[in-house]
Amino acid sequence: MSYWGDRVRQVIGAWGTIDSIKAQSYSGLIAGGEKSNLWMPVTSGLVCSCKRQDENVFEKMCVSCYGIGLIGGYQKYGHTYLYISSIDPTLVLTNISLNQNYRPYRLILNDGQLTGTIETVDYTIQNTLLNPYEWDVKTYIKDTGGAVLVEYSTDSGVTWYTLQQPVTATTKIRFRITLSRTVTTIRSPFFEMLRFRWMNVLDDTVYISKARTPIDYKRMKYGLTETAAGPRFWTIIDQAIPSLSFTTFLEGPNQGQTMALFDFNVTFFQGIALRQVFSGRIITEGVEIYTQVF
Ligand SMILES: [Zn+2]
Repeated sequence: MSYWGDRVRQVIGAWGTIDSIKAQSYSGLIAGGEKSNLWMPVTSGLVCSCKRQDENVFEKMCVSCYGIGLIGGYQKYGHTYLYISSIDPTLVLTNISLNQNYRPYRLILNDGQLTGTIETVDYTIQNTLLNPYEWDVKTYIKDTGGAVLVEYSTDSGVTWYTLQQPVTATTKIRFRITLSRTVTTIRSPFFEMLRFRWMNVLDDTVYISKARTPIDYKRMKYGLTETAAGPRFWTIIDQAIPSLSFTTFLEGPNQGQTMALFDFNVTFFQGIALRQVFSGRIITEGVEIYTQVF
């Protein structure tokens, strides 16, 4: 609690409020918790083309949806994303079509074409904090002589810049992806996905408490036996963390480690979510997609 001078009545009056309790809890978390980044699954969007026919099963290692089944898959806490996916129906394709031989579907040059373009609509951007932009492009060059060029325009396609250059704060943006090959006898490069994001909070660090390993007591035939349940953590963020979320610790004994989070329990105070308590499971590198998530 900061210096409260002559505002004693107001301060003491506020002690019982949810904001005050949250603030005290949060101060404790910052002091004793560990910094991490948090990724949460998307809950809306296009259904991914990696879906198996007639089944609600998605490819676990799909980079279009990260196995979630909806385009984008995961979002880093505190960020807004644009997704330009191969199956986006608003794309304008020139000399390019959707290859549906493999899942997820990817865009390739038409037979006999040396070059072709994929162009998006204008997207409206609200980046009031003027944070920098970041992006991740998933393309595949199958043969030597194939090439992919990703560009952006902030004036509806009059001027184009390569995406290697930093994008400065803007209110609208569109993208153009050019696929090309030196001869038509080699395989076309593939375009699958472009993710573009910017931070919409002042700080995207999520503090997570140190692990606690609660002891359960189980009644045996004679007496009780102790069993250690999995480690439990808690955090406070301004939105509910859904199952399937995961975190990467930036410090502490778990630094660098990625944990899938599950078994959420939310502590409520006067009907307001206060703490989110959960278990963490260390992921298996290479077998699970988490470390590839942008
Ligand atoms: Zn997918």
